[in-house]
Amino acid sequence: MPAGHAYGKINIGHAASLLQTNTPEAMEFIKLNFIGFILCFLAIIFLLVYIIKSWNSNPKKSQYLFLIAFILLNVNSYPKRFAIAAYMRFTEAKTEVEILKNGISIKDQFTILKKDIQYENILVIIGESVTREYMSVYGYPLNTTPWLKNANGDFYTNAISPAPNTFLSLPRTLAKFDENKKEAANNIVNLSNKAGLDTYWVSNQGRIGEFDTPATIIAYHAKHKFFLNNGDYESAKNSDDFQMLPYINNIIRSKEKKVIFAHMIGSHPNPCDRLQSYPLNFNTGNKIIDCYLSSIQKLDSFIKKATEMLEQNGKPYVIFYFSDHGLTIDNSSNPVRHGNAYRENYDIPFFIIDNKSQKHRLINGQFSNSAFLSKFSERIGIEYKTPSDGMRSLDNVVYNGSAFIDYKTLPNLKIIDG
Ligand SMILES: [Zn+2]
Repeated sequence: MPAGHAYGKINIGHAASLLQTNTPEAMEFIKLNFIGFILCFLAIIFLLVYIIKSWNSNPKKSQYLFLIAFILLNVNSYPKRFAIAAYMRFTEAKTEVEILKNGISIKDQFTILKKDIQYENILVIIGESVTREYMSVYGYPLNTTPWLKNANGDFYTNAISPAPNTFLSLPRTLAKFDENKKEAANNIVNLSNKAGLDTYWVSNQGRIGEFDTPATIIAYHAKHKFFLNNGDYESAKNSDDFQMLPYINNIIRSKEKKVIFAHMIGSHPNPCDRLQSYPLNFNTGNKIIDCYLSSIQKLDSFIKKATEMLEQNGKPYVIFYFSDHGLTIDNSSNPVRHGNAYRENYDIPFFIIDNKSQKHRLINGQFSNSAFLSKFSERIGIEYKTPSDGMRSLDNVVYNGSAFIDYKTLPNLKIIDG
């Protein structure tokens, strides 16, 4: 049935996507599960009609109706299972958002031990839905990243995301996320503020209510915030990541040492909506995959432009880029989508480019991007501690939406290269 077919079983991430009612991710979910929703809806209507009818019609007739309703809703039918699972997961996701929201008032626990910040402009680009295997800089045969392929910087070849969708991945990437308390107070924005940096959040993703998604909850702590789209699906659909560049260009002219977080819409399904004026430059025979590859090429161009702006500005700079998670890419009728059962759902690009980079370095050690906070602070020159520093390292572990699993036990997808 639809939910199972498209996603595997419903998990908290899917429910969370739906809670983010105005985001493209929610729309994607609804589209994929359309038949499931229709079935559920019909079953509920049917039951209601039955209840109303049985109230005043003769009991024999309504017994037949009852039998049908009973079969439809109670013999472990799909609509029933779907409805129950959806209800349970919504409650769970709602709780997660609630706890995160409450976390806004919780003070961070960072102690800055040392700071020696060499950069004036620190740009953290939070990518969206980019699977590493589809970038030529990491060996993909079609040239999706012509600029990055030769750019000087540190390119990590084995980074994985802590989870397979934005909702679950970002709090676990941008904060020392406390799984027990679902707390994200010890996050990168608070750390940067505490280290005396000015903080900017520029987002091309929907904002919804002010605190509805983990990313906006973390963004809340930034001293300056720019949300480029109002948060409804149509505007997110029409928003172009390139629109963030003039904002970034203005911000880097300010005098303070600063961190700019740029949250892209990137290659999020449907990738054809992400291109805007960017041309479709590939021809694999599958238009959606061609859009996906072109959206990655657009990312390449975005990073090139951002680097040129920082170079032109002349002050010492560093750019961090990672994608929040990967995707499932295959030759099915829905070829570019979220998933959680393959390595490619977690295989992400991660690289660091700064004004001192002299060569193109590939760095092969495997790590989970739940370590991003320490990678970030090490590079920019902040030493900190938190009470949770002793926690076990999760280099190989991913949260798939319902359980923590060993990444190495996951199978690989076949890479489609035309
Ligand atoms: Zn995402």
